[in-house]
Amino acid sequence: MVRAEQVHKSFGSLEVLKGVDLQVRAGEVCCLLGPSGSGKSTFLRCINHLEKINAGRIWVDGELIGYRQRGDKLYEMREKEVAAQRRAIGMVFQRFNLFPHKTALENVTEAPLLVRKEKRTEARDRAEALLERVGLSDKLHSYPSQLSGGQQQRVAIARALAMQPKLMLFDEPTSALDPELVGEVLDVMKDLARDGMTMIVVTHEIGFAREVGDSLVFMDGGVVVEQGSPREVIAAPKHDRTKAFLAKVL
Ligand code: ATP
Ligand code: MG
Repeated sequence: MVRAEQVHKSFGSLEVLKGVDLQVRAGEVCCLLGPSGSGKSTFLRCINHLEKINAGRIWVDGELIGYRQRGDKLYEMREKEVAAQRRAIGMVFQRFNLFPHKTALENVTEAPLLVRKEKRTEARDRAEALLERVGLSDKLHSYPSQLSGGQQQRVAIARALAMQPKLMLFDEPTSALDPELVGEVLDVMKDLARDGMTMIVVTHEIGFAREVGDSLVFMDGGVVVEQGSPREVIAAPKHDRTKAFLAKVL
């Protein structure tokens, strides 16, 4: 579902990604770990072309992201085509970024109505079903300020799912939450994983990685240092940098 080959990304003279390779099969959950500044968020942003890469290639569901290939040459896609690719990829951030003046239901129906031009009744029915799925059927008409952080993050997940993505990217979805609210968000993500969604999850929740992850990727200094089955990497990390990092977060 996702293949990244030798992805490079610099900001000015700062080289943040130095040749990242990654493969995630359809239906798999890939957990991405690494110290602050190692390039995890940048890499996620490259996958949905919020950042333009300097070298390398990324495919999602067989489609080259951001470029068209003709012969040996790559041509940049037009913004419209990039937007179409981005719609198939859901993203959930650390901060929930809900529209503050819209209810939970309106937050979830917004993009289907405006971008997918769905019929109002259809968008609404599906939004209600999604909010029920994330355990919020009693909060349809609540505004973000009336919801807890965990509830807001579950609305954000429902909102991303409303676009019917083939891939979900999560960037530390629970790290801004009070500890007692982390579980309810992880439970929604587990449910999504069980349902077969392909997911890349940047997280320091080692328990989640061990229980739900099909693969664990440890990044440091802009490269993938180590990857493997979460159980194996967590129990017996091979590289010193992975060992040092896990010792801190475990
Ligand atoms: P964290 O765990 O703190 O979220 P991260 O692994 O997600 O860290 P990134 O946010 O990808 O790390 O940042 C990697 C490096 O790239 C950092 O040094 C950061 O300052 C730099 N960086 C990220 N975005 C930009 C930008 N738009 N312009 C310049 N530098 C950037
Ligand atoms: Mg980050």
